[in-house]
Amino acid sequence: MAEEKTKTVKFSILEPDELSDEDMRLLEAAYEVRKNAQAPYSHYLVGAAVKTWNSDEIFTGCNVERASYTQTTHAEQSAVDAAVKKIGPKMKLKKVAIVSAPEGVEIPISFVEDLEWTIQFAHPFDPVDQPNVPCGHCMQIIWENCGGDDSVELLAIHQSGSITKTTIGDAFPWKFGPRDLGIE
Ligand SMILES: [Zn+2]
Repeated sequence: MAEEKTKTVKFSILEPDELSDEDMRLLEAAYEVRKNAQAPYSHYLVGAAVKTWNSDEIFTGCNVERASYTQTTHAEQSAVDAAVKKIGPKMKLKKVAIVSAPEGVEIPISFVEDLEWTIQFAHPFDPVDQPNVPCGHCMQIIWENCGGDDSVELLAIHQSGSITKTTIGDAFPWKFGPRDLGIE
């Protein structure tokens, strides 16, 4: 009989006061850049912001769609590539924040002033079944720059306003990456 291996994955739903200043700055950056998304086909707007171990700078990206579809750029990919462009191939991700929802959905959270939030939850801490995670394509892109560290955090604001946190290791449990090609 085949030996079965299992892996447990987890995520948390956070209350706003559980977020660090860094978390809030990242989520705010993702929330803001999402407004620039170009998504005339999917009408699904995504903003992403990344923090690296290499500098204090926050890098952002939004989805940019083209009529031919396959040339679409994903938000997370754009943010990761912006960090590589500035830092180089040694860029190592520390944290990734994502804010995504269909166009027209008003995410019940707003950033009034620096690090001050107002949040109107339809239901406080509206339970969500899973965290907002990057698509599979972007998971691979993120993992490439995690330096083999599967504890890199993925923070997200759900369209309900719920804030979720997980890690690349939980969101993308079985990974193919640089080490499979003998690259550390
Ligand atoms: Zn993606």
